[in-house]
Formats: sequence, structure tokens, C-alpha cells
Amino acid sequence: PPYYPELPKDQAADFAARRHRFQKRKDHRQTPYINHPVGVAYILTTEGRVTDPAVLAAAYLHDTVEDTKTTIEEIEAEFGKEVASIVAECTDDKTLHRDVRKALQIERAPRNSMQAKLVKLADKLYNLRDLERGTPVGWDKRRVKEYFKWSKEVIAGCKGTNDALEAALDDVINRNL
Ligand code: NDP
Ligand code: ZN
Repeated sequence: PPYYPELPKDQAADFAARRHRFQKRKDHRQTPYINHPVGVAYILTTEGRVTDPAVLAAAYLHDTVEDTKTTIEEIEAEFGKEVASIVAECTDDKTLHRDVRKALQIERAPRNSMQAKLVKLADKLYNLRDLERGTPVGWDKRRVKEYFKWSKEVIAGCKGTNDALEAALDDVINRNL
């Protein structure tokens, strides 16, 4: 067991920062990608009042498998089965067409674990607030609207998980749809 309780999430933050080190967000300011997983973990602790160390570690790691060369096996070896299974639930299969991936997220959301639902809710909240702040490079208003509509459907499948996160998501969606 870790010698102090913060170890899993500090280790996850360090791991994610290394893996995402060359990536940028899609905004015009080319924000470092790591701002996103850090923000997702921060939303979970401050707004969601989440303390589960596996959920917080998974929040930092949630895009490492989808967006870098990191594998689920590697996550399991470093962080154990519980964290790895949450990350796996939050990882889209990038070999599938975008429309198929989007449909699968909606379809699978209700059957995800509570832990994965928490990460997904915070992830969508972060991304929707990002979109509200600024339109990504190459996106038009219609594409932003489509993203809000799709997110609303994924979130609907995660309901009953965390009141504060769900209320914050309702707010940002109602302001933008
Ligand atoms: P993408 O999946 O390509 O991009 C959205 C993802 O980018 C987010 O989920 C987030 O993922 C990441 N991201 C990085 N930077 C930002 C940022 N600044 N703000 C928000 N998200 C960011 O988009 P979609 O394919 O979902 O596009 C939305 C809709 O637009 C689709 O439903 C499709 O119908 C339509 N579309 C239109 C196109 C067009 O050219 N008109 C082309 C493609 C789609 P993460 O959490 O992993 O970082
Ligand atoms: Zn994400």
C-alpha cells in the first residue's frame, strides 16, 4: 500500500504530464494538453467532492491510452487493476469511425461503473466549459452545437452519480443549447 494516501494521484499526474508533454489542446492559444486532465481531477475534488484515490488517479490518466502510445496493460502494471479498468471504460477505440465511437459512448454510458461515470461527467464538464470559452481551431458554430447535443446524451446515461457535477453540466448545457 502507498506510504501516504496522495501517492496514486501524484504518480498519475506525473505519468500523464510526461505522456502528454508534446500535445496541445485544440484552442487558439495552444494550451498544453495536461491542463485538461489536471482540470478534470480538480473538478472532481472541488465540485464533486470526490475522494476515491482510484477515481482521481484515473482522472489524470483518462486520455493517456486514447491519445498517446500508452497501453492499458502499462496502466495496470503501474497503477493496478482498479485504475486500469476505469481508464479502459473512458477510452474510445480510435480505429472505429468517429460516428461509431460517438454512438458507442451514448449506448455504453449507462452500463459504466460509478467510478467511470464520475470521470466522464467531469471530462464533459471540462470540455463543455472549454468550448464555451472559445471555439477550437477549425470548428464552426454548428460543430460546437453538435458537440453539446452529443454530450447531453452521454451525460443522460451517467445520471444519478453526482448531484453537483450533474447540476453544473445542466447549467453549461442550458446556456449553450
Ligand atoms: P472531436 O472529438 O474531434 O473533438 C472533441 C474533443 O477534443 C473533446 O472531446 C476533447 O476530448 C478534445 N478537445 C481538445 N481541445 C478542446 C477544446 N479546446 N475544447 C473542447 N474539446 C477539446 O469533435 P467531434 O468529432 O465530437 O465533433 C463534434 C461534432 O461535430 C460531431 O458530432 C460531428 O457531427 C461534427 N463534426 C463536424 C465536422 C466538420 O468539419 N463540420 C468534422 C467532424 C465532426 P478529450 O477529453 O479527449 O481531450
Ligand atoms: Zn478528456
